[in-house]
Amino acid sequence: MNLIDRFRDIVGAKNVLTDENDMQGFVTEWRDKYIGRARAVLLPRSTEEVAALVRLCAETKTPIVPQGGNTGLVGGSIPFSGGDEVIISTRRMNRVREIDRLNGTLTVDAGCVLADLQAVAEENGFIFPLRIGSEGSCQIGGNISTNAGGVQVLHYGNTREQVLGLEVVLPDGRIWDGLTGLRKDNTGYDLKQLFIGAEGTLGIVTGAVVKMYPRPKYQQVAMAAVPSVEAAVEFLGLARKLSGDQVTAIELIPRICIDMVVKNVPAISDPMPARYPWHVLIELSSSATPDLAGLMEAILAAGFEQEIVLDAVIPASGAQQAMLWHLREEISAAQKPEGGSIKHDISVPVSRFADFIREADKAVEKIVPGFRSVAFGHIGDGNVHYNPLQPADMDKDAYLSRWPEVSRVVHDIAVRMRGSISAEHGIGRLKIDDLPRYKSPLELDLMRRLKQALDPDGIMNPGKLLK
Ligand code: FAD
Repeated sequence: MNLIDRFRDIVGAKNVLTDENDMQGFVTEWRDKYIGRARAVLLPRSTEEVAALVRLCAETKTPIVPQGGNTGLVGGSIPFSGGDEVIISTRRMNRVREIDRLNGTLTVDAGCVLADLQAVAEENGFIFPLRIGSEGSCQIGGNISTNAGGVQVLHYGNTREQVLGLEVVLPDGRIWDGLTGLRKDNTGYDLKQLFIGAEGTLGIVTGAVVKMYPRPKYQQVAMAAVPSVEAAVEFLGLARKLSGDQVTAIELIPRICIDMVVKNVPAISDPMPARYPWHVLIELSSSATPDLAGLMEAILAAGFEQEIVLDAVIPASGAQQAMLWHLREEISAAQKPEGGSIKHDISVPVSRFADFIREADKAVEKIVPGFRSVAFGHIGDGNVHYNPLQPADMDKDAYLSRWPEVSRVVHDIAVRMRGSISAEHGIGRLKIDDLPRYKSPLELDLMRRLKQALDPDGIMNPGKLLK
């Protein structure tokens, strides 16, 4: 029996896709940056089916690309163009296995879509706090494998902090059942941490126990204009202090981003009454403080007094609050029609956020005079999406051809500040050549030894994350 027939034996013929048209959506990245070829796309329904598929791949040394919602931004879920890899997609594995209200946990299949998990948590009076722009398509297995971040990391932590237990199919096909919902377990190495953020290179996550949190009764958003990035960082500290740490999100938004969204996205108008250089979108959440609007006003008033806030808008209705978040979420899309942009996903200590933007702007200006600085994002986590935009009158391809040069200086500045070249999107294929420059030989050696120990034949997502 040939390999494809053996796959069909495991998951059924209709769950083995081999036709190019059927595979199209699985081999193409959402931005079309990576387009690959696969021998087949395999759609298992259960952990046992995943294990049987992986055992067969291990026996035949067939390379595997694990795939969730395929919303990753670094090419990790896309096969190379050789056509010898198989994609194992968790799309059909979408059961909520258990809701434990007393333990505050959900036990779920890896293929559950993030927005569906958020909805299940809400129906039960909780929240699942991971909030990212792709939540309608990405899956919890993909979130875990990329250690996804998003807008509430400041308060709840990133995906790593939401995971209490994991179930993983190892590269030899064995199933590791680590599905505990324990908050304390000091019995040696914390194995689940190996697979969180591993980008599918150490095994296939098939299930997880994740935390839920009590759903806050009240929420209040405001947009504040600030004179500088330094002032935005000061304001963050002030708001955390005066609110008793009830700031659940805070995003930095420069004037250029508001202009791009207002120009390029229908039905969004400028929320600010006047033009200012920088803004923060801040959200407070609480169940114990009914008058969050009053608290927000008091925080903003203290900011005015300290001259770190210039102006502010406090929306009166839920719809107006949602509109401010909509503006934030549309920034990436709104940047597209403005020309080429060179994307970075940097983190630095919050205290270096302003220094980073200033130094990076200066360095990029030397390489591409007249470029337009676009720096926005999760200021509370020191995570800036630093996406310098081409000069208005420059050819897009000519600008994008400077990507390696620009990224090199931007990454060098971040790492000099003890920052990271990938705060939340991962390494995948996009940054695989950069990693050796920024990880120490010791770190790379340890990572390679782990990979070798778990996947000696290198069948699990080869050519991603580590060379
Ligand atoms: P995929 O793209 O399918 O896979 C990502 C990586 O994980 C690949 O290397 C893949 O091989 C591996 N993988 C997937 N599933 C498994 C599994 N079950 N077992 C083992 N390995 C697996 N990311 C953020 O962190 N924060 C954001 O705010 C954010 N915003 C975004 C907004 C938009 C509009 C888009 C398109 C993307 C955004 N992302 C963001 C990136 C992306 O959504 C996340 O990285 C997400 O966690 C990927 O999940 P996925 O299911 O789509 O994974």
